[in-house]
Amino acid sequence: MDTKQDQKAWICGGAAHCESPPKTNGLPNRLVLLGAPGVGKGTQAELLCTNLGTCHLSTGDVFRAAKGLDSAERTPALTAALDYMRRGDLVPDETVLAVVAERVGCLRCEGGFLLDGFPRTVAQAEALAELLAKEKLKLDAVLSYELPLEQVVSRLSGRRTCSKCKAVFHVKALPPKMAGVCDHCGGKLYQREDDQPESIRVRMEAYERSTTPLTDFYRRRNLLLSIPADGSPEQIFKRTLDALKVAS
Ligand code: AMP
Repeated sequence: MDTKQDQKAWICGGAAHCESPPKTNGLPNRLVLLGAPGVGKGTQAELLCTNLGTCHLSTGDVFRAAKGLDSAERTPALTAALDYMRRGDLVPDETVLAVVAERVGCLRCEGGFLLDGFPRTVAQAEALAELLAKEKLKLDAVLSYELPLEQVVSRLSGRRTCSKCKAVFHVKALPPKMAGVCDHCGGKLYQREDDQPESIRVRMEAYERSTTPLTDFYRRRNLLLSIPADGSPEQIFKRTLDALKVAS
Protein backbone atom coordinates (compact mmCIF):
# COMPACT_ATOMS: atom_id res chain seq x y z
CA MET A 1 0.00 0.00 0.00
CA ASP A 2 2.76 2.41 -0.78
CA THR A 3 2.28 3.60 -4.32
CA LYS A 4 0.53 6.81 -5.33
CA GLN A 5 -2.01 4.68 -7.16
CA ASP A 6 -2.90 2.85 -3.94
CA GLN A 7 -3.11 6.11 -2.09
CA LYS A 8 -5.49 7.49 -4.75
CA ALA A 9 -7.86 4.62 -4.09
CA TRP A 10 -8.71 6.16 -0.72
CA ILE A 11 -9.75 9.53 -2.06
CA CYS A 12 -13.53 9.92 -2.16
CA GLY A 13 -13.45 13.24 -4.02
CA GLY A 14 -15.25 16.55 -3.52
CA ALA A 15 -13.12 17.50 -0.50
CA ALA A 16 -14.07 14.29 1.26
CA HIS A 17 -10.94 12.25 1.75
CA CYS A 18 -9.54 9.17 3.39
CA GLU A 19 -5.81 9.66 3.31
CA SER A 20 -4.92 6.49 5.17
CA PRO A 21 -5.87 2.98 4.13
CA PRO A 22 -8.67 1.40 6.21
CA LYS A 23 -7.39 -0.23 9.42
CA THR A 24 -8.83 -3.43 10.73
CA ASN A 25 -8.37 -2.66 14.41
CA GLY A 26 -11.93 -3.57 15.35
CA LEU A 27 -12.79 -0.11 16.70
CA PRO A 28 -16.10 1.55 15.84
CA ASN A 29 -15.41 3.59 12.69
CA ARG A 30 -18.73 5.07 11.56
CA LEU A 31 -18.66 8.23 13.57
CA VAL A 32 -20.09 11.73 13.99
CA LEU A 33 -17.94 14.41 15.67
CA LEU A 34 -19.47 17.22 17.72
CA GLY A 35 -17.65 20.04 19.49
CA ALA A 36 -17.75 23.80 19.91
CA PRO A 37 -15.19 26.07 18.21
CA GLY A 38 -11.91 25.94 20.14
CA VAL A 39 -12.25 22.44 21.63
CA GLY A 40 -9.71 20.94 19.20
CA LYS A 41 -12.17 18.90 17.15
CA GLY A 42 -10.15 19.40 13.93
CA THR A 43 -7.00 17.92 15.48
CA GLN A 44 -8.93 14.93 16.81
CA ALA A 45 -10.51 14.41 13.37
CA GLU A 46 -7.03 14.22 11.81
CA LEU A 47 -5.78 11.77 14.46
CA LEU A 48 -8.86 9.59 14.07
CA CYS A 49 -8.55 9.46 10.28
CA THR A 50 -4.87 8.53 10.45
CA ASN A 51 -5.39 5.88 13.11
CA LEU A 52 -8.65 4.33 11.94
CA GLY A 53 -8.32 4.95 8.19
CA THR A 54 -11.79 6.49 8.07
CA CYS A 55 -13.05 8.76 5.30
CA HIS A 56 -13.30 12.36 6.56
CA LEU A 57 -16.37 14.24 5.37
CA SER A 58 -16.54 17.81 6.64
CA THR A 59 -19.43 19.73 5.11
CA GLY A 60 -17.68 23.04 5.93
CA ASP A 61 -14.57 21.85 4.02
CA VAL A 62 -16.71 20.77 1.06
CA PHE A 63 -18.34 24.23 0.93
CA ARG A 64 -14.99 26.04 1.28
CA ALA A 65 -13.44 23.88 -1.46
CA ALA A 66 -16.39 24.68 -3.75
CA LYS A 67 -15.48 28.39 -3.59
CA GLY A 68 -12.40 27.63 -5.71
CA LEU A 69 -14.34 25.74 -8.42
CA ASP A 70 -15.63 27.21 -11.69
CA SER A 71 -19.39 27.60 -11.67
CA ALA A 72 -19.57 24.90 -14.41
CA GLU A 73 -17.84 22.43 -12.06
CA ARG A 74 -20.21 23.07 -9.16
CA THR A 75 -23.35 21.05 -8.65
CA PRO A 76 -26.59 23.06 -8.15
CA ALA A 77 -26.55 22.08 -4.43
CA LEU A 78 -23.04 23.52 -3.96
CA THR A 79 -23.90 26.74 -5.81
CA ALA A 80 -26.93 27.25 -3.55
CA ALA A 81 -24.85 26.48 -0.42
CA LEU A 82 -22.23 29.09 -1.30
CA ASP A 83 -24.81 31.89 -1.40
CA TYR A 84 -25.83 31.11 2.19
CA MET A 85 -22.24 30.81 3.38
CA ARG A 86 -21.32 34.17 1.83
CA ARG A 87 -24.09 35.78 3.87
CA GLY A 88 -22.77 34.07 7.01
CA ASP A 89 -25.94 31.97 7.38
CA LEU A 90 -26.30 28.28 8.02
CA VAL A 91 -26.99 26.40 4.80
CA PRO A 92 -30.60 25.05 4.74
CA ASP A 93 -31.03 21.40 5.67
CA GLU A 94 -32.20 20.24 2.24
CA THR A 95 -29.14 21.78 0.53
CA VAL A 96 -26.74 20.23 3.05
CA LEU A 97 -28.45 16.87 2.61
CA ALA A 98 -28.13 17.08 -1.18
CA VAL A 99 -24.40 17.77 -0.77
CA VAL A 100 -24.00 14.77 1.58
CA ALA A 101 -26.08 12.55 -0.71
CA GLU A 102 -23.72 13.46 -3.59
CA ARG A 103 -20.92 11.98 -1.45
CA VAL A 104 -22.72 8.82 -0.35
CA GLY A 105 -19.65 6.85 -1.50
CA CYS A 106 -17.89 8.29 1.52
CA LEU A 107 -20.47 6.68 3.83
CA ARG A 108 -19.90 3.34 2.13
CA CYS A 109 -16.13 3.61 2.54
CA GLU A 110 -14.58 0.36 3.78
CA GLY A 111 -12.68 2.11 6.56
CA GLY A 112 -15.82 3.83 7.86
CA PHE A 113 -16.58 7.56 7.94
CA LEU A 114 -16.05 10.55 10.14
CA LEU A 115 -18.74 13.19 9.76
CA ASP A 116 -17.59 16.62 10.88
CA GLY A 117 -19.90 19.66 10.90
CA PHE A 118 -22.81 17.43 9.89
CA PRO A 119 -25.42 16.81 11.22
CA ARG A 120 -25.94 20.23 12.79
CA THR A 121 -29.70 20.02 13.40
CA VAL A 122 -32.11 17.29 14.51
CA ALA A 123 -33.68 17.34 11.02
CA GLN A 124 -30.24 16.64 9.51
CA ALA A 125 -29.66 13.85 12.08
CA GLU A 126 -32.99 12.25 11.16
CA ALA A 127 -32.17 12.49 7.45
CA LEU A 128 -28.76 10.95 8.06
CA ALA A 129 -30.41 8.04 9.91
CA GLU A 130 -32.71 7.51 6.90
CA LEU A 131 -29.82 7.68 4.43
CA LEU A 132 -27.80 5.18 6.45
CA ALA A 133 -30.77 2.82 6.80
CA LYS A 134 -31.24 2.94 3.01
CA GLU A 135 -27.56 2.06 2.58
CA LYS A 136 -27.88 -0.69 5.24
CA LEU A 137 -25.22 1.03 7.30
CA LYS A 138 -25.20 1.74 11.02
CA LEU A 139 -23.84 4.78 12.85
CA ASP A 140 -21.50 3.42 15.57
CA ALA A 141 -21.01 6.43 17.86
CA VAL A 142 -21.18 10.21 18.24
CA LEU A 143 -18.09 11.74 19.84
CA SER A 144 -18.92 14.94 21.68
CA TYR A 145 -15.87 16.96 22.77
CA GLU A 146 -16.67 19.02 25.85
CA LEU A 147 -14.82 21.86 27.53
CA PRO A 148 -16.04 24.34 30.20
CA LEU A 149 -16.86 27.78 28.77
CA GLU A 150 -14.04 29.54 30.66
CA GLN A 151 -11.44 27.23 29.11
CA VAL A 152 -12.85 27.81 25.62
CA VAL A 153 -12.66 31.58 26.23
CA SER A 154 -9.04 31.26 27.40
CA ARG A 155 -8.05 29.12 24.39
CA LEU A 156 -9.70 31.29 21.77
CA SER A 157 -8.98 34.70 23.28
CA GLY A 158 -5.23 33.86 23.39
CA ARG A 159 -5.22 33.00 19.69
CA ARG A 160 -3.24 35.32 17.39
CA THR A 161 -3.28 35.10 13.60
CA CYS A 162 -0.65 36.37 11.17
CA SER A 163 -2.03 39.14 8.95
CA LYS A 164 0.20 37.97 6.08
CA CYS A 165 0.50 34.16 6.04
CA LYS A 166 -2.47 33.35 8.36
CA ALA A 167 -0.30 31.16 10.67
CA VAL A 168 -1.94 30.73 14.07
CA PHE A 169 -0.19 31.22 17.46
CA HIS A 170 -1.36 31.27 21.06
CA VAL A 171 -0.04 33.76 23.61
CA LYS A 172 0.47 30.97 26.19
CA ALA A 173 0.29 27.57 24.49
CA LEU A 174 2.21 28.46 21.30
CA PRO A 175 3.81 31.90 21.72
CA PRO A 176 5.73 33.47 18.81
CA LYS A 177 9.47 34.09 19.43
CA MET A 178 8.81 37.84 19.41
CA ALA A 179 5.48 39.11 20.79
CA GLY A 180 3.14 40.25 18.01
CA VAL A 181 5.41 39.07 15.16
CA CYS A 182 4.98 35.94 13.02
CA ASP A 183 7.85 33.42 13.31
CA HIS A 184 7.39 32.33 9.70
CA CYS A 185 7.11 35.51 7.65
CA GLY A 186 7.61 38.42 10.08
CA GLY A 187 3.99 39.55 9.52
CA LYS A 188 2.04 41.38 12.22
CA LEU A 189 -0.08 39.15 14.49
CA TYR A 190 -3.62 40.23 15.27
CA GLN A 191 -6.59 39.01 17.29
CA ARG A 192 -9.61 38.08 15.15
CA GLU A 193 -12.69 40.09 16.03
CA ASP A 194 -14.65 36.94 16.81
CA ASP A 195 -11.88 35.79 19.20
CA GLN A 196 -12.61 38.66 21.64
CA PRO A 197 -13.95 37.17 24.94
CA GLU A 198 -17.42 38.75 24.55
CA SER A 199 -17.83 37.48 20.96
CA ILE A 200 -16.67 34.03 22.07
CA ARG A 201 -19.36 33.92 24.78
CA VAL A 202 -22.04 34.90 22.24
CA ARG A 203 -20.81 32.25 19.75
CA MET A 204 -20.71 29.60 22.49
CA GLU A 205 -24.24 30.38 23.64
CA ALA A 206 -25.46 30.08 20.03
CA TYR A 207 -23.55 26.79 19.69
CA GLU A 208 -25.05 25.39 22.92
CA ARG A 209 -28.57 26.40 21.88
CA SER A 210 -28.28 24.70 18.50
CA THR A 211 -26.38 21.60 19.64
CA THR A 212 -28.26 20.61 22.80
CA PRO A 213 -31.23 19.12 20.86
CA LEU A 214 -28.71 17.15 18.75
CA THR A 215 -26.80 15.75 21.75
CA ASP A 216 -30.16 14.84 23.36
CA PHE A 217 -31.18 13.10 20.12
CA TYR A 218 -28.05 10.91 20.14
CA ARG A 219 -28.03 10.36 23.93
CA ARG A 220 -31.55 8.90 23.70
CA ARG A 221 -30.25 6.49 21.05
CA ASN A 222 -27.30 5.46 23.27
CA LEU A 223 -24.82 6.71 20.70
CA LEU A 224 -23.36 9.70 22.54
CA LEU A 225 -19.82 9.45 23.94
CA SER A 226 -18.83 12.57 25.90
CA ILE A 227 -15.09 13.23 25.81
CA PRO A 228 -13.53 15.83 28.15
CA ALA A 229 -11.49 18.10 25.83
CA ASP A 230 -8.99 19.50 28.36
CA GLY A 231 -5.28 18.60 28.21
CA SER A 232 -3.01 17.91 25.25
CA PRO A 233 -4.23 16.59 21.87
CA GLU A 234 -2.55 13.24 22.70
CA GLN A 235 -4.38 12.98 26.04
CA ILE A 236 -7.70 13.81 24.40
CA PHE A 237 -7.02 11.26 21.67
CA LYS A 238 -6.24 8.55 24.25
CA ARG A 239 -9.61 9.29 25.92
CA THR A 240 -11.27 9.04 22.51
CA LEU A 241 -9.76 5.62 21.81
CA ASP A 242 -10.65 4.43 25.33
CA ALA A 243 -14.27 5.53 24.84
CA LEU A 244 -14.41 3.80 21.44
CA LYS A 245 -12.99 0.59 22.94
CA VAL A 246 -15.69 0.58 25.62
CA ALA A 247 -18.35 1.21 22.95
CA SER A 248 -17.11 -1.56 20.65
P1 AMP B 1 -17.78 24.75 9.56
O1 AMP B 1 -16.43 24.69 8.95
O2 AMP B 1 -18.31 23.40 9.97
O3 AMP B 1 -17.86 25.75 10.68
O4 AMP B 1 -18.78 25.28 8.42
C1 AMP B 1 -18.60 26.51 7.75
C2 AMP B 1 -19.93 27.03 7.22
O5 AMP B 1 -20.48 26.07 6.31
C3 AMP B 1 -21.00 27.20 8.29
O6 AMP B 1 -20.92 28.46 8.89
C4 AMP B 1 -22.27 27.07 7.44
O7 AMP B 1 -22.53 28.24 6.70
C5 AMP B 1 -21.90 25.98 6.47
N1 AMP B 1 -22.21 24.63 7.00
C6 AMP B 1 -21.33 23.60 7.16
N2 AMP B 1 -21.95 22.48 7.58
C7 AMP B 1 -23.26 22.80 7.71
C8 AMP B 1 -24.41 22.07 8.14
N3 AMP B 1 -24.35 20.78 8.52
N4 AMP B 1 -25.61 22.74 8.16
C9 AMP B 1 -25.70 24.03 7.77
N5 AMP B 1 -24.66 24.78 7.37
C10 AMP B 1 -23.43 24.18 7.33
